[in-house]
Amino acid sequence: MSCNCNNANKSIECTVTNCRNHCDSANYCSLERILVGTHEANPTMDQCTDCKSFQMK
Ligand code: SF4
Repeated sequence: MSCNCNNANKSIECTVTNCRNHCDSANYCSLERILVGTHEANPTMDQCTDCKSFQMK
């Protein structure tokens, strides 16, 4: 199921089009809020961070 782009959250830009919560036609998340975390013990760069609200389409 794809997201409803009427809910684009302009405060959360996102380019992960593979996520169910992504607004396909614009680079925004449709959620009211997201959780960002890390998979590293000692994160040092942006690649170390993850959107924990990601859901596969
Ligand atoms: S849940 Fe995370 S990865 Fe998915 S669209 Fe929103 S910000 Fe992007």
